[in-house]
Amino acid sequence: MMAGRADSRPQVIIVGAGVIGVCCAWFLARRGARVVVLERERIAAGASFGNAGTIAPGHLPLVKPGRFWSLVKTMLRPLSPVYVAPRFDPALIGWLMDFARRFGEAETDAAMRAIAPLGRESLRLYEELVGEERLACAFRKAGYYEVWRGGEGLREAEREVAFARRHGFRAELIEAEPLRRREPHLRPGLACGVHFADAATLDPYAFVSGLAERARAAGVTFRSATQVARVLVEKGRVRGVRAATGEELAADAVVIAAGAWSAALLRPLGYALPLQPAKGYHCDVAPDEGGGPPVTEACVLAERLVFVTPLGNRTRLAGTLEFSGLNLEIRRPRLDQLIRAAREYFTSLEAIRSLSEWCGLRPCLPDGLPAIGPVPGVEGLYLATGHAMAGMTLGPVTGKLVAEMILDGAPSLDTAGLDPARFA
Ligand SMILES: Cc1cc2nc3c(=O)[nH]c(=O)nc-3n(C[C@H](O)[C@H](O)[C@H](O)COP(=O)(O)OP(=O)(O)OC[C@H]3O[C@@H](n4cnc5c(N)ncnc54)[C@H](O)[C@@H]3O)c2cc1C
Repeated sequence: MMAGRADSRPQVIIVGAGVIGVCCAWFLARRGARVVVLERERIAAGASFGNAGTIAPGHLPLVKPGRFWSLVKTMLRPLSPVYVAPRFDPALIGWLMDFARRFGEAETDAAMRAIAPLGRESLRLYEELVGEERLACAFRKAGYYEVWRGGEGLREAEREVAFARRHGFRAELIEAEPLRRREPHLRPGLACGVHFADAATLDPYAFVSGLAERARAAGVTFRSATQVARVLVEKGRVRGVRAATGEELAADAVVIAAGAWSAALLRPLGYALPLQPAKGYHCDVAPDEGGGPPVTEACVLAERLVFVTPLGNRTRLAGTLEFSGLNLEIRRPRLDQLIRAAREYFTSLEAIRSLSEWCGLRPCLPDGLPAIGPVPGVEGLYLATGHAMAGMTLGPVTGKLVAEMILDGAPSLDTAGLDPARFA
């Protein structure tokens, strides 16, 4: 704790107001900390704005058991679901080599064991938070379907079901026709589907901005348009941060929750976090006016890696992964893929009309798991990033655990597998 302050409550600075930063702020403030969130742009300006809004605790954030070679075969094709834009980038090459080692059964089982308890707790926290704070964010706990089109679909679906059940999540294999009775706008002739019941959907921006509002009411200060340029460290202990304007802000603890941009703040401290941004796109359509897919529950179009999420008055098509560096350039053909994919799986989408188009960057670590915990070598500095495709899913539990680490000295769940020190 810093000396000479009248108020003895710990002062915490959070860098980044995405779902992770906002959840950390809410839990810390509720537990009595003084919290300032510094955000380069505005609340939920990054990946948290336009993601698919699926809370899917039964899934690993990035890897799928045994799928690496099928990814490799297509990943240099500009329209493939997972695309690596060809370029000489030693950091990306190293990252991909490390990533390749993580797809074995033993590795994916170990990763799931590390993440499953957090996912379960996060889903429980969502229900609590949305109810207690009365957040109007189209939250629905009805699960979602993974829909397979192709000949390999049944085998893949059976593998998914076995993996989910092995880790204690409900997963039901559904043949094509019963699936079409549940979702009548799916095309005839699909392979099959899987229903994952332990899942929910919501409007991500409505959730993050709503929770930020409640955090503000609980005393959190949000400063938009404030870019953090540097974390300040003195004698091995964090002392605060310096903004890009030169302004210095003091803190007892600093949490880096800057999503895909987090590594830049760690580099000057001698810590090279192997974080790669994986771009994804969304396009919102209006089911009534424009003929978007009128789904009753969210569907993942499995072969295309596209989510179709009902969000009240619109439907969101979102997904695909693109490793093309730290930029927000929209590659039009990849964005158009979302509608093409929807047409492959659903009927009557001729008049589809797009209401919003967007891309965002998922923060990805090579083992596919987030890094949540103290940064090695700097007392009082914490990292909460690398949530890849599961940042919405794991937002609330990350916030709760970070608050416990800072205020209690230890988290209530086992986070050993997520320790940032594993990359130091
Ligand atoms: C297309 C797509 C679909 C997805 N679907 C899902 C899904 O269905 N379910 C799910 O669980 N996850 C999903 N995700 C992943 C999820 O969106 C991310 O994991 C999550 O949003 C990451 O949150 P974050 O707070 O770490 O990062 P972000 O939301 O990116 O927030 C980081 C914030 O930090 C700010 N910042 C950066 N640098 C600085 C700095 N130096 N100073 C101050 N501020 C800074 C940025 O402006 C930004 O606002 C999806 C992602 C995409 C792209």
